[in-house]
Amino acid sequence: MTLHIPFDNSYGTLPDRFFTRQSATPVSAPTLLAFNHELAAQLGITAGTDAELAQVFSGNQVPDGADPLAQVYAGHQFGGFSPQLGDGRALLLGEVLDANGGRRDIQLKGSGRTPYSRNGDGRAWLGPVLREYLLSEAFHALGIPTTRALAAVATGDRIQRETGLPGAILTRVASSHIRVGTFQYFYARGDYDGLRALYGYTVARHYPAADSPLALLKAVIERQVNLVVKWMSVGFIHGVMNTDNTALSGETIDFGPAAFMDTYHPVTVYSSIDHQGRYSYDNQANIIGWNMAQFASSLVPLVENSDSAVKEFTEAVNAMPAMIRDTWRRAFTAKIGISNPREGDEVLVSELLVLMANQRADFTNTFRSLSGEAARDQFTDPTTFDAWEATWRARITEEDAPEALMQSVNPAIIPRNHRVEQMIQAAISGDMAPFERLMQVLARPYEDQPEAIDLTYPPQPDEVVQATFC
Ligand code: AMP
Ligand code: MG
Ligand code: MG
Repeated sequence: MTLHIPFDNSYGTLPDRFFTRQSATPVSAPTLLAFNHELAAQLGITAGTDAELAQVFSGNQVPDGADPLAQVYAGHQFGGFSPQLGDGRALLLGEVLDANGGRRDIQLKGSGRTPYSRNGDGRAWLGPVLREYLLSEAFHALGIPTTRALAAVATGDRIQRETGLPGAILTRVASSHIRVGTFQYFYARGDYDGLRALYGYTVARHYPAADSPLALLKAVIERQVNLVVKWMSVGFIHGVMNTDNTALSGETIDFGPAAFMDTYHPVTVYSSIDHQGRYSYDNQANIIGWNMAQFASSLVPLVENSDSAVKEFTEAVNAMPAMIRDTWRRAFTAKIGISNPREGDEVLVSELLVLMANQRADFTNTFRSLSGEAARDQFTDPTTFDAWEATWRARITEEDAPEALMQSVNPAIIPRNHRVEQMIQAAISGDMAPFERLMQVLARPYEDQPEAIDLTYPPQPDEVVQATFC
């Protein structure tokens, strides 16, 4: 076999109760759907033939040096605590050191049942696998911290959901799979030795400068605030911001029912399982605070003087709304061409967003067209935009290069839900061309690509995706 992965594993050296070692459950007829050669090269992986890649990234063959294991964790799901979750359909194959010396996990998702599967079948179907592949790579191109996609393999087996669907396995690459829920697992069991081991491992792997639990909390908060504001600045709705889907690394993880908004409205929800709108577009900024409060609670036993820890941790979490407002103001004033925001500039942004919400303007195309001529066409009543535009144009005459700034932060192209759905339907019938075209175009999201203009159009009424499923 010419396929070689230079494993350098560390998670498996943690105590036994952090995971269960096991192999993947074999699949019938693995075929390679997609492989990320560029990422493989960064990870020092020498790719073999497609057949070898399909064997290894379906889990049918364990590559040399792999140490497959399912990680245990807990988590708040839609606000309710589950004391034990874990990789119910995933296996960490092992870790590699990338070209920059960074440690990266290589994980199979959809690889069969584990002790943490509960009632699940341990499998994934083609739709969510290709959605996560496409969205995570689109995120990378947008410059938003994210897990990556290395491979997608069709299993040749049918998966039973509401109907029978083709099975698939995603190979995901992450800076790690440590979650807020991993801390919660040890905290909730009162396993403070485990908690200390996890804390030490996390600090060494992700935050070597953090010299206390408070420093770790603050560093994680900073990354999460930046991440959620980046999501919001491209109109992204994660969909399942449970604490087990909040990664300590600050990467976006678990794209599940994730979606980008077409028309702008602050309470937009796509996920079919988010009945209360807990994870709506706007509420993401509140939920990340709630998740960080859960993280803070799990760190308290690490500090000797718990009264002072609670006080300091609470202050750190309470500082988040102001941090988010400030980060949001910088991100959104940049979207209207202002590089050095001053008092009052956020009012311009808010006024634009109100117009957009009232007139159901397209989020991506409105912001992108501010650096062109066509912005007023995004509004059903363009005269209301004209009034806003006059004030805005006067303000940006004071900016050096507003057009260039706007073009660098307002993507021309995003993975629109209806295109993602069309891509999935095509893939089910064996046609990977829409997937490949989307991948190619989404690799350069900040460039105008006239040959892909059709991919920038909002959905026609009959194409609108009402809900996303995972
Ligand atoms: P998620 O919503 O994908 O973040 O998953 C939440 C929990 O459910 C995790 O512990 C998953 O491993 C588990 N899970 C999700 N889907 C399945 C499945 N088909 N089989 C087994 N476990 C699953
Ligand atoms: Mg074990
Ligand atoms: Mg998850």
